[in-house]
Amino acid sequence: MITPILLEGKPLAEKIKTAIAAEVAGLKSRYGRAPKLVAIQVGEHPSSAVYIKSQRKAAEAAGIEYELKALPAAASSADISALIKELNIDPSVSAIIMQLPLPNGTDAHKLVEAISPAKDAEGMHPANLGKIISGACSICPCTAAAVMALLETTGQRLYGKEAVIIGHSEIVGKPIALMLLNKFATTTVCHIATGERGLLPEHCKRAEVLIVAVGKAGIIKGEWIREGAIVIDVGVNRVGNAVVGDVEFNAAVKRASYITPVPGGVGPLTTIILMRNTLELYKAALSGGRE
Ligand code: NAP
Repeated sequence: MITPILLEGKPLAEKIKTAIAAEVAGLKSRYGRAPKLVAIQVGEHPSSAVYIKSQRKAAEAAGIEYELKALPAAASSADISALIKELNIDPSVSAIIMQLPLPNGTDAHKLVEAISPAKDAEGMHPANLGKIISGACSICPCTAAAVMALLETTGQRLYGKEAVIIGHSEIVGKPIALMLLNKFATTTVCHIATGERGLLPEHCKRAEVLIVAVGKAGIIKGEWIREGAIVIDVGVNRVGNAVVGDVEFNAAVKRASYITPVPGGVGPLTTIILMRNTLELYKAALSGGRE
C-alpha cells in the first residue's frame, strides 16, 4: 500500500488569496478603487445561496467588491439580457458571473455569451474558452484552473503521462482535456457512452493522472485506480448528511500517490480562482484604457 499525499485545496487557496489581496491593495491605492465582481441571480436555486455566500466571503477576504443583482424567477431572457448589457458598459464593473442554473425557459448559453468576454469572470465565454486551444487562455474556467493548480502542486511532470478524464462537460471536463493536452499529457476523455459500454474500468486502470467530474457518488471504484496514480475528484455529491466525491475514496487512497479529499480538494480553490479572474479582468481593463 502506498501512503498517498492528500491534495488539499485550502492551503493553496489561502496562498492565492493572500497574493490577490496584496495586489488588490496596491492597485486600489494607485487607482482609487478595487476590482468589482457582480453576480447575477435569477430566482432562488438552493445551491446558488451557498455559492453566493462563499463568493462574497472570498471577495471580502481578497479586497474585491462584490455585488449581487437578484432578479425574480419570472424575469424573462430579455430582462436578464438588459441587465447584462448595462453591466457590460458600466466602467465600475470589472467582472460578471451568472449564477446557474437559470429557471426553465431561459437559454443559459445565450446569456453567458451575452456577457462581454472582457468581463467574463468564469472564463465561460466562447472567446475565452477558445483561447484554451492555443494555450493562450488568461481567463480560464475556474474549476478547470483549480484542477490544473492542484496538479501543479504535485511537482509531477505531465509530459507524456497517460491522463484520463471522466466527464466531458463544457465547464469542467472539456477545458481540462485541452489544458492537459497543452501540457503534452496523452489525454483520453470518457463520458456517458464510455460508461454505457462498460469501458470505464479499462480507461481508469491505465490512468497515471485521473480526473473525475461526473456527479455520481462512488462511480469510480477504488480497485480501478492505477498504483501510484494522481487522482483528482471534482465530484460533489450529497449522500444523506455527508458530501462525497465520485471516487470511492477509502479504497482509492490505498493505491493513489496523490488524491484529493471531497470535500476539501478542488472546491475551496474554485471560488478563489474566480477572484483571480476578476483581478485579471480589472488589470486588463486598466491596461486597455477601458476604464
Ligand atoms: P455535468 O455537466 O452533469 O457533467 C457530467 C459529465 O459526466 C457529463 O459529461 C456526462 O456525460 C458524464 N457522465 C454521466 N454519467 C456518466 C457515466 N455513467 N459514465 C461516464 N460519464 C458519465 O456536471 P459538471 O458540471 O461537469 O460537474 C461534475 C461534478 O463536479 C458534479 O458533481 C459537480 O457538482 C462537481 N463540480 C464541482 C466543482 C467544484 O468546485 N468542486 C465545480 C463544478 C462542478 P454526458 O454529458 O455524455 O451525459
